[in-house]
Amino acid sequence: MRILIAEDEPSLRENLQWMLELEGYEVVAACDGQDAYAKAKIQKPDLVLTDVMMPLLDGYGLIRALRANAGTSTVPIIMLTAKADRADVRAGMNLGADDYLTKPCRREELLEAVQARLQRSSSLEQAAQRLQNETRYAMQIDTLTALPGRDLFEQQLESAIEHHSGVALLCLGLDGFAKINESLGTGVGDLVLREVGKRLNLYSAQWIQPTAHDAVGRIGGDQFAVCMAGLDHEDTLHHRATEVLRRLAQPYVVNGHTLFLTASAGSSLYPAQADSAHALLLNAESALHHAKPAGPGSLVHFDAAMNRRVARSLQIHNELHHALAQGDLQVFYQPQVNIQSGNVVGFEALLRWHHATLGWISPTEFIPIAEQSGIIVQLGQWVMHTAAAQAAQWLTQGHRNFRMAVNLSVRQFAGKELPALVAQVLNSTGLPPAMLELEVTESMALQSVASTLATLHACKALGVKLAMDDFGTGYSSLAYLKQYPLDALKIDQAFTRNITQDVGDAAITRAIVAMAHSFGLTVIAEGVETAEQLDFLRGLHCEEFQGYLFSKPVPADEAVKCFAGFRG
Ligand code: C2E
Ligand code: MG
Ligand code: MG
Repeated sequence: MRILIAEDEPSLRENLQWMLELEGYEVVAACDGQDAYAKAKIQKPDLVLTDVMMPLLDGYGLIRALRANAGTSTVPIIMLTAKADRADVRAGMNLGADDYLTKPCRREELLEAVQARLQRSSSLEQAAQRLQNETRYAMQIDTLTALPGRDLFEQQLESAIEHHSGVALLCLGLDGFAKINESLGTGVGDLVLREVGKRLNLYSAQWIQPTAHDAVGRIGGDQFAVCMAGLDHEDTLHHRATEVLRRLAQPYVVNGHTLFLTASAGSSLYPAQADSAHALLLNAESALHHAKPAGPGSLVHFDAAMNRRVARSLQIHNELHHALAQGDLQVFYQPQVNIQSGNVVGFEALLRWHHATLGWISPTEFIPIAEQSGIIVQLGQWVMHTAAAQAAQWLTQGHRNFRMAVNLSVRQFAGKELPALVAQVLNSTGLPPAMLELEVTESMALQSVASTLATLHACKALGVKLAMDDFGTGYSSLAYLKQYPLDALKIDQAFTRNITQDVGDAAITRAIVAMAHSFGLTVIAEGVETAEQLDFLRGLHCEEFQGYLFSKPVPADEAVKCFAGFRG
């Protein structure tokens, strides 16, 4: 303990110093107020003993200065007054002194006062520390559900790992929770979250062999986590996770509404799949991320391939911009053939990406990533422009009676720019509008039927053709087919593949062709690989086909040779 003595009278100062040092205190001596203040700032004493009457800066000035300085504002101060003048004492106490002693003071008196002040100050410090810890803890508790927040939950996970050889973690995300907030208000949403917290707490208290380190936390807006300490067995984890999902799927009755809500879950195990609390949390979240697209109420257990997939899509995401800018992307063309005549009547433009280290990356992998990041808009513009320019070039070379089909992503439908883009592409390439075909998918209607219709009609008004791609794999709603201003329908290769073996697929294909014809649409079968498949399609009066039987998608210089036609 360090004590600063401010006293201008040397003998008194030395006497005080001697008495205190005898008791084991470290003493810093100052001969006036200014000297004392300068030393206090640097040496940070645990207590200050100060005379009142001193040159340069008196005791009051020193108290005022110490209290005003952040580093010394709470240091205990004992005044030494020559006479027990009440007014003197009052003035000092008002400025912030904690106690006073009258000079000359006896040894016991001095030590008693010093000890009392030091003790009080340290217990005050402890109380402040405790208060600080408590507020920090409170800040980590989610006020809505009274569950630990993300940081605190991670700490709890850490201590579970310290005390148990195995720990299982379950991350939960409520399916479609945003809809509840949107349609019924956040007040109802809050009550649902609270109820979810309650159910999780209740269940975790009920399972066989609960431990002190089991924990439930709210780790995000609509995300919760359950730590199961002492559990390292996949079967038990699966059993508990299934039970958690079952309980969360029970109807919620809030403010007179009965709500049906499910949760999806991702799980991970320590030490089998993660070597720290942090990794365990990230892995379970990664598994949850995979569970979400699998549909409401899904449960996915983490496996190491997930992280590799995540890393790969991150890399693709990061490098797509460069690929487009550096010309690593190419458009390949797959010919479309008239089944009756064998003539090539069109091409489908298909994106290709050759990556320096990853090799060829399929559009089925990078298009969804491009959709998420939004770069699909630039990508789509570039493909449409490149393909139209290619078609225009073939036209000037004397090839006639063909269309160029370009795939459109859902995102390109969401904005209002599509008709303007199409007009701009036609304008700059000089391609006759009827030679450009836009391939759309049924999922675009998920955005909004009204705006989809408006966009389709606006494109149609420019004179381009419209084809429904991958028909049969999505919603395949007849209502859409009737409403949309389509020219052609493409039967997905999933059906074509089995038409000669599977009576079901054959029947569906027959029905699709008949229905499309009744709406006046041309039918294009995708993925035709064998002569038998082609014969079957010919029998159905399907107009066109596209597939490896004739040609794979190939670069422009090879595609142009296809104009010779299919003479199978
Ligand atoms: P899609 O539009 O249905 O394209 C047909 C896919 O079937 C192409 O795959 C094509 O290579 C493949 N294919 C063609 N004939 C056969 C066959 O006989 N057998 C088999 N097994 N497959 C065949 P690809 O090129 O990998 O494209 C996959 C999907 O990626 C496309 O499906 C399309 O949805 C999307 N895509 C490709 N390029 C673009 C693009 O420029 N923009 C957008 N938005 N999407 C694109
Ligand atoms: Mg297509
Ligand atoms: Mg298709």
